[in-house]
Amino acid sequence: MAVLSRCSRAVTAATTPNAAAAKFSYLIRALSPFSSSSSSTFDADNGLNSRIKPAVLGTLKREPKDRNVQWVFLGCPGVGKGTYASRLSDLLGIPHIATGDLVRDELTSSGPLSSQLKEIVNQGKLVSDEIIIDLLSKRLEAGEAKGESGFILDGFPRTVRQAEILEGVTDIDLVINLKLREEALLAKCLGRRICSECGGNYNVACIDIKAENGKPGMYMAPLPPPPQCASKLITRADDTEEVVKQRLRIYQAMTLPVEDFYRSRGKLLEFDLPGGVRESWPKLLHALNLEDEEDKQSAAA
Ligand code: ADP
Repeated sequence: MAVLSRCSRAVTAATTPNAAAAKFSYLIRALSPFSSSSSSTFDADNGLNSRIKPAVLGTLKREPKDRNVQWVFLGCPGVGKGTYASRLSDLLGIPHIATGDLVRDELTSSGPLSSQLKEIVNQGKLVSDEIIIDLLSKRLEAGEAKGESGFILDGFPRTVRQAEILEGVTDIDLVINLKLREEALLAKCLGRRICSECGGNYNVACIDIKAENGKPGMYMAPLPPPPQCASKLITRADDTEEVVKQRLRIYQAMTLPVEDFYRSRGKLLEFDLPGGVRESWPKLLHALNLEDEEDKQSAAA
């Protein structure tokens, strides 16, 4: 009942972009008290994980000195937003907030929105901007209460309206647009497995695209779960061929314009994934001018 009343208040309050922005603004401002200050340097000593060795940052990265980064991951379903966002979250010590996870948590709850969300998600459609903003606001509010600062958003914004609302209330420093060859996206969604206990993301697909007509081949090894997760794997209900194809169509229609939105503001970092995690992670870190000391040591071992 409480969820319903909070959500319906948000839906009513968010009937205009300004009203939605006002609601959102309170929560995001609360998380980023220094959001108006801007700097082209990155403060390595500002509460960041000791695994990171930041190098000189390029012009795209404008993290303000006095707060943690506020980054967004964009990319088609199956591209690996969750995998890379959660690795960066561990490395930087900044919360990874995936709106898809918030939606799934809500639909598996016994809350009154649950059946409505299940129907939308299982058809591969987008949840309304108002519901998503309400779920995200609640997540940010809970984080704020725990003292969180900064975020890596994954799956938000997904419409230009969501991007406008976000842009109106806080400074997004960088938007990482992950790209992967289309042939691999469907296979990656169908091979995705999630640990029902820890939420870890794994993949059983072995993608081996042969070189053809001058186009290079691509190999992506499966991403196996650690032994403690192996017996607890589940498949997402929306990772069926029909629903993934619908999600890919919706991405083209609704989210590609979000790429343009950030591109025109000079915030978009395009990153073509060259292969699986082992190959792509060091290159992504390089593109972000970051180094993972732990990863380097284990690669050298
Ligand atoms: P994907 O693999 O398609 O990127 P996500 O886990 O990010 O999947 O999202 C799962 C579902 O949750 C989406 O298909 C959509 O129904 C809903 N959803 C997540 N984020 C948003 C958003 N920002 N706006 C609207 N719907 C969303």
